[in-house]
Amino acid sequence: MPELPEVETIRRALRDGGRDGPPLVGRTIQAAHLLWARTLATPSPTEFQPRIAGQIIRDVGRRGKFLLLELSTDVLLIHLRMSGDLLVEPQAAPLAAHHRLVLDLDGDLRLAFNDPRKFGRAWLVGDPDEILAGLGPEPLAEGLTPEDFYRRLHHHRRQLKPLLLDQAFLAGLGNIYADEALHLAGLYPLSLASQLDEAQAARLLASIRQVLEDGIRRQGASIDWVYRGGDFQNYFHVYQRTGEACNNCGTAIQRIVVGQRGTHFCPACQPPTPVP
Ligand SMILES: [Zn+2]
Repeated sequence: MPELPEVETIRRALRDGGRDGPPLVGRTIQAAHLLWARTLATPSPTEFQPRIAGQIIRDVGRRGKFLLLELSTDVLLIHLRMSGDLLVEPQAAPLAAHHRLVLDLDGDLRLAFNDPRKFGRAWLVGDPDEILAGLGPEPLAEGLTPEDFYRRLHHHRRQLKPLLLDQAFLAGLGNIYADEALHLAGLYPLSLASQLDEAQAARLLASIRQVLEDGIRRQGASIDWVYRGGDFQNYFHVYQRTGEACNNCGTAIQRIVVGQRGTHFCPACQPPTPVP
């Protein structure tokens, strides 16, 4: 599933060009074709097509794992979920089997939302906060200080791993980057957030930022979906390395299931915190 670095990589390619084609900023949406009705969460298909036609793409943003196409008057939010991808293609290219939503653009281009598993969603809204209001802070935003992060952790008697995956606590992390960040911080995934001291909280935030920045620098991980080019999967320390030697200490990486998610950690570098 794409996480913050993968979504950020796609955002930059769409905004600046790269990946498949030229930059999208400044292009006009000529028409929209909804090929799988449930991909569009709002508005209704009959309202959507005339409303989006004629709008210009002003910028491509991101919030957590959401992509935001900022248009003349509306914002098109896209969440790729399990298997979504966005492709820039010539309008004359044949429509691939898993295209769910296609926007025809000027310059004979189209932007196609391809999504084999159909969990991805798009929302066309005037105010993105209608959809994004419940998201926690952006982990790379400077406004999130170590002191804020410590206070937020302290409100939760929850285990670290599921808390880091909770998008209302922090926006953008998924299973890969949560496991890698906890390993880098030397924290046991089942420790309670409220048990961390200020130094541990600061180390966790710094570790989250480092793994996200490493992931972005390597254009994300290409692992169980089709994203091209990213190679962060070659630099994992724990994720999907069960039984292999920890790069720090040589101990075998263990896998446990926490909140129904596979969780990978080094039992020596990430020892359980004693419960007071
Ligand atoms: Zn280790």
